[in-house]
Amino acid sequence: MKCNVIRWSQSFGVRVLLLAVASHVACHRAVARADTWADHRAIGPFVCRADFSLQGHEQVFHDLADIQRDLYRQLGVPPGQEQIEVYLFRSRSSYHRYLRQWYPEVPSRRALFIKNNGPGKVLVYLSDELHTDIRHECTHALLHSSLPMVPLWLDEGLAEYYEVPPNARLYRNPHRTATVWSYRLWQRQSIADLESRNQLSEMGRDEYRHAWAWVHFMINGPPAARQELANFLTDIREGKPPGELSTRIARAVPDPDRAIVQHFKSFWK
Ligand SMILES: [Zn+2]
Repeated sequence: MKCNVIRWSQSFGVRVLLLAVASHVACHRAVARADTWADHRAIGPFVCRADFSLQGHEQVFHDLADIQRDLYRQLGVPPGQEQIEVYLFRSRSSYHRYLRQWYPEVPSRRALFIKNNGPGKVLVYLSDELHTDIRHECTHALLHSSLPMVPLWLDEGLAEYYEVPPNARLYRNPHRTATVWSYRLWQRQSIADLESRNQLSEMGRDEYRHAWAWVHFMINGPPAARQELANFLTDIREGKPPGELSTRIARAVPDPDRAIVQHFKSFWK
């Protein structure tokens, strides 16, 4: 079995994407050992296995159902047909032990989304960021279970948007303050700028923040922007050439680079 798409989150909070081809047979053997896990949950498409008790973590699983519902309601992304496997580890060391055993080629990162020819897999370990990591990586998993591809910057922007608890998405994302300040300082990135970032090395903290800002704008700003994003994702899902989202948004919204600044000004005045 080839694991050819591996996503992970770096320990300092910047998510990156790795495209790699790594031949190994770990993917299905790991599932076969599921009976060794201490706790499990089945929620919608998610089958979660943990080497610790999941008592007290119920809310984050409700959040996952909420993300799935909102991807459909807000952006027209329907649930995929695939199961998504989530592996939770009680400590960083048990997580790394598992990675060394089953995914030895994967660099050491705080959380992972792995997509191969079969179901998507999310791997996370218990930390202060556990719930954020689960929501972030599971957003990737939901998108990739329904869509054949997602542009890198948009994939991360959506994951950043949905990684906070549902009631924090509008006003309390940690990117908020830096976004407002970056616009005041005229530090801006257009969608076209972000679309040109096709390599991991080109996606830094600023790119993640701006990707989040565009997603926030498209979902909560002019209705035409949200509709165009939904149409773009529908074209991808249906196998139609989607073109560039930057071009489509520019047709749907007059002067989007100005409109996004106005959006954040009015949203947080
Ligand atoms: Zn990510």
